[in-house]
Amino acid sequence: MTQNFYDVAVIGGGAAGLNAALILGQARRSVVVFDNGVPRNAAAAHMNGFLSRDGMDPAELVSIGRAEVKKFGGDFRSGTVVSVDSVGRRFAVECDDGSRIDARKVLIATGLTDRLPAELEVFGEFWGKQVLHCPYCHGYDVRDQPLGVVAKTVDRAMHQALMLRQWSSDVVLFRHRVGDLGAENLEKLAARDVVVVEGEVTAPVVENARLTGVQLADGTVVSRAAVFVGGALTMDPNDAVLRSLGAVRAETMMGEFVTVDGFGGTSVPGLYAAGNVVDPSLQVVMAAGAGAKAGFGINMALTNDDLEDALAQRR
Ligand SMILES: Cc1cc2nc3c(=O)[nH]c(=O)nc-3n(C[C@H](O)[C@H](O)[C@H](O)COP(=O)(O)OP(=O)(O)OC[C@H]3O[C@@H](n4cnc5c(N)ncnc54)[C@H](O)[C@@H]3O)c2cc1C
Repeated sequence: MTQNFYDVAVIGGGAAGLNAALILGQARRSVVVFDNGVPRNAAAAHMNGFLSRDGMDPAELVSIGRAEVKKFGGDFRSGTVVSVDSVGRRFAVECDDGSRIDARKVLIATGLTDRLPAELEVFGEFWGKQVLHCPYCHGYDVRDQPLGVVAKTVDRAMHQALMLRQWSSDVVLFRHRVGDLGAENLEKLAARDVVVVEGEVTAPVVENARLTGVQLADGTVVSRAAVFVGGALTMDPNDAVLRSLGAVRAETMMGEFVTVDGFGGTSVPGLYAAGNVVDPSLQVVMAAGAGAKAGFGINMALTNDDLEDALAQRR
C-alpha cells in the first residue's frame, strides 16, 4: 500500500535534499523525497571541489545518494511538486501527477535556475562545457587557456575578470553592454594584464562542435577557449512553494532569496529550506552540508513536538 503520511517531505533530491533525507532516515524519521530530475549541474561532466568525490559525474553522486537514503527507509517519488499547503500542524504536498501526501515538516531543496540574458542565449549550447559560471567549479579545467568574461554590471565584471587571473594569464573582459568601467577599474585591469575588448558580444564562434571564440557586433572574432558568464547570469531560486507559504525573503547581491536560520528554518513554522534555493553560492559539498544541518533542525523540531504531545497525553 502506498504510504501517504510522513514525518518529513523533502522537495528536491539534489545534494541538499538527499543529505537531509539521509540524516533524517538515520534519525529514524519517515522521509519521502520528491524530485523531477533537473539538478543545477546536469550539464557538467564532472564535479570539482568535493573532498573524496572530486571528478565524479554529478549523476553518480545523486544515484549513490538515493541508494543510501533508501537503505535507511527513505521513499522517492518522481515528479514536480506543484503545491504545499499548511493544514493545522501538517503540510499537504501535491505532485503534478495529482498524488498527495501529508507531512509533519517540509524541507524545500529545489535549487535554482541559471538564466543567460536574452542576447547571450545563443551561447547556451556550450553551457557547463565552455560557457561557464564559476571559477571554483571550472577554473582548474581551463587553466592557462585564453579565457573571456562577459557580465552585466561593472562590479560583477571586475570581480570575475580579476579572479580569473588566478587560473590564466590570458583573460579578456568583453565590455559588451556594461557601462563605463572608470579610470580606477581600468588601472586595476591593466595592472593584472586583463585586456578590455570594446563592442557587443553577439555569438559563439564554433569549429568541430566546440566554441573557439567570440564574435562581436562589428564582425571581429576573438579566439577564446572558454567564456565565463557568471556575472551576466540571473540566478532564479526555484522557490515558488516557499513564496506561496509566505516565507520571508531578503535582497542579496545575487537577487532576492528566502532567509533561513542556521538549521534551515524559514519564518514559517515547520517549513525548512537548504541549498541553492536559499544560497546561490553553495557548491555541492556546501549544499550537502546545509541539507545535513537542516536535517538536524527538523529532527530537533520533531523531537520537541513529540515531547509536547507526550506531555499533553500524560496530563
Ligand atoms: C554547469 C555547472 C557546473 C557546476 N559544477 C560544480 C562543480 O564542479 N563542483 C561543485 O561543487 N558545484 C558545482 N556546481 C554547483 C552545483 O550545481 C550546486 O552546488 C548544487 O547543484 C546545489 O545543490 P542543491 O541540492 O541545492 O540543488 P540541485 O542540485 O539543483 O537539486 C535540486 C533538485 O530539486 C529538483 N526540483 C526542483 N524543483 C522541484 C519541484 N518543484 N518538485 C520536485 N523536484 C524539484 C531538481 O530536479 C533537482 O534535482 C555547478 C553548477 C553548474 C550550473
